[in-house]
Amino acid sequence: EDFDSSNLDGRVLKNVTLAKYTSPTPVQKNAIPIIQAARDLMACAQTGSGKTAAFLVPTIHLMMKIGEPPVADPAPSSYSSKRVYYPTVLIIAPTRELAVQIHDESCKFTYNSGIIPAVVYGGSDFRDQVRQLDRGCDILVATPGRLVDFLQRGKISLEFVKFLILDEADRMLDMGFEPQIRQIVEDFNMPFGEDRQTLLFSATFPKEIQRLASDFLHDYIFLTV
Ligand code: AMP
Repeated sequence: EDFDSSNLDGRVLKNVTLAKYTSPTPVQKNAIPIIQAARDLMACAQTGSGKTAAFLVPTIHLMMKIGEPPVADPAPSSYSSKRVYYPTVLIIAPTRELAVQIHDESCKFTYNSGIIPAVVYGGSDFRDQVRQLDRGCDILVATPGRLVDFLQRGKISLEFVKFLILDEADRMLDMGFEPQIRQIVEDFNMPFGEDRQTLLFSATFPKEIQRLASDFLHDYIFLTV
């Protein structure tokens, strides 16, 4: 069994090979076709299962397939302080460490694709992160608090998000991020239902996560590995 059989876009497949991933892990084998079929997904998967590539690889594949045109920049880039950033993919993760890891993997899988990933997290200089966003943010990886901060300042708009991914959702709830997550998804003009594809990853599936799944996902597939 290899990644060839999943009919991935050639550029994505090449990047998977460059990353030295030869055979898909169980969560990758199961999640990739579901995500490629444009379905919402609730996946129970542990750290170390290969869950990051399970959501990144098919999402990047779909972005290439759609050939999503970059959103026109409404302000000249010299007016950086007034610029608003419009990600197509939003990935929310509980910690800076996890966000950075997901961003690193995103860089590998988008190599030579024209798709640009960015990462924002708390405890780091705001202006440095804005300068990073200036280089592009088709895929935005963010921790909840810092993302709310960017949204409240009007620096990031979720209007054109096509893919919403919540990673380690149970850990985010354990850390008390449920209000921020609900605020991000419900209050900031993000497309909903069939207008976005939503993927929820969690190690466990307690009542609180079941509630998030029924509130955020549309006609979803449940996967446990
Ligand atoms: P994750 O569960 O996404 O944090 O991945 C755990 C580790 O396994 C990371 O270091 C990945 O780079 C690596 N990994 C994930 N999928 C594969 C694969 N199919 N082949 C080889 N390494 C992988």
